[in-house]
Amino acid sequence: MAAKFENNNLIVLNPLSKEEIKSIPLSGNGEISKIIKNSKIDDSWSLLSVPGRASLIKKFRKALVKNKNEIQNIIKSETGKIDFDITIEIFTSMEHLKQITGIAKKALKLQRRNSGLMKTKKAYVKYEPLGVAGVISPWNYPLATPLVASVEALLAGNNVVLKPSEHTPLTSLLLKDIWDKYIGYENAFQILIGGANVGEQIVRNNDIDIVCFTGSTSVGKIIAKQCAETLKPCILELGGKDPMIILNDANINRAIESALFGSLSNGGQTCISTEELYVEDKIYEDFVSRISKKIKKIKSGKNGDYSTMIISDNAKKVNRHIDDSRKSCKIIQGESDDVNLFIPPTLVLEPDEDSLIVNEETFGPVLSIRKFSSEKDLVKKIHKTGYGLSSSIFGRDKKKIDKIVKKLKIGTVSINDVLTHYGIASIPFGGEGLSGMGRMHGKEGLRSLS
Ligand code: NAD
Repeated sequence: MAAKFENNNLIVLNPLSKEEIKSIPLSGNGEISKIIKNSKIDDSWSLLSVPGRASLIKKFRKALVKNKNEIQNIIKSETGKIDFDITIEIFTSMEHLKQITGIAKKALKLQRRNSGLMKTKKAYVKYEPLGVAGVISPWNYPLATPLVASVEALLAGNNVVLKPSEHTPLTSLLLKDIWDKYIGYENAFQILIGGANVGEQIVRNNDIDIVCFTGSTSVGKIIAKQCAETLKPCILELGGKDPMIILNDANINRAIESALFGSLSNGGQTCISTEELYVEDKIYEDFVSRISKKIKKIKSGKNGDYSTMIISDNAKKVNRHIDDSRKSCKIIQGESDDVNLFIPPTLVLEPDEDSLIVNEETFGPVLSIRKFSSEKDLVKKIHKTGYGLSSSIFGRDKKKIDKIVKKLKIGTVSINDVLTHYGIASIPFGGEGLSGMGRMHGKEGLRSLS
């Protein structure tokens, strides 16, 4: 746990010290409907022009940058992350706001379309706000995920009711304070505090016009069913396995560094963390020997190289996956100075087809490695879990890469790189299959919010 419920309060705990950081009141049923209703009836934000909204988001971004130390401290206290991971989160969030604000001005402006045979007619597309967006977010990036989803919905002219994770609500509360102080438009950006029950009330509320959910596939399925009852649109950003493919002609050093960065940064608690490596047969032995040497030198712990496990239930799941793999295959681990709080960097070699690590999202600093020789077998194995969020491929033969990429049912593929696509706000982001539906980011994301 990084938080606990007590009476009508949410007690937020520091994941490292387990000490209470703050006790905050949970949003009660009456407050939830009142806040959503206020948001529904206040159209002052939606009536602004797109450039008008963009200029206020620019001002909001400046205010966030001004308050970056406070943001850094709050993220640190409620997640226990190392400074490097927090800096990346703040930097990519600010960069995203900068890019997406520019994109919105073009993507959402009135578009003239060809009227074809109707030569005397003028045809336009106008991107109107949907109304109130219910944004529900997880705990692994308490700044980036709620902020980016909320700002995209706001740029499209919607009012936002945000429910951050019960484990990391303090960063979102700070965002709300900064918004109110520098921007005003209080009903345009509202926060509700609580767990699944509050999330469910947002989804079911008739005044919510779209749900933007980021979280687990299991909860995403529940939300999809609830939205289906009233055909409410929803964007679902869910879990993934995020395979990395390393071809015989790849730059092995670059692939190893990328695999380690992709799997260990943020303690492996990133939806697009690399969780499985598929290494082509000719380089397999060399690759495994080199990455094994490297991982043994990486440390987890209070002064370690990557962040702690943020919530204990997730740490238990990751350890379950490692223990389950131990039964059938070889495991190579780096160091940890406190195995109760930190999970050592872990390589799992040739896991059993039925093992948990092959079939479920792990969400920790663990990387499985499997050899492949046929492309058909590779693609079949990658698609086995049904996840399809992101992936990466390393190699030099462009034709071969292209052939494999075409067969992948996956939202994003990075070529000779990893994770960085999330930092490019102009490309749509989202998964296929069990990794979700709909897109955020880019003009595609902004238009799906209007
Ligand atoms: P989670 O699904 O348990 O919770 C996410 C949010 O949903 C929380 O705010 C929670 O309170 C709320 N919630 C829970 N039950 C609900 C219900 N029935 N109705 C409405 N809301 C409900 O996920 P988590 O453990 O917080 O986050 C980890 C998961 O999120 C991982 O699977 C990870 O891959 C995924 N994730 C995906 C992305 C992406 O962009 N695809 C990004 C970050 C995290």
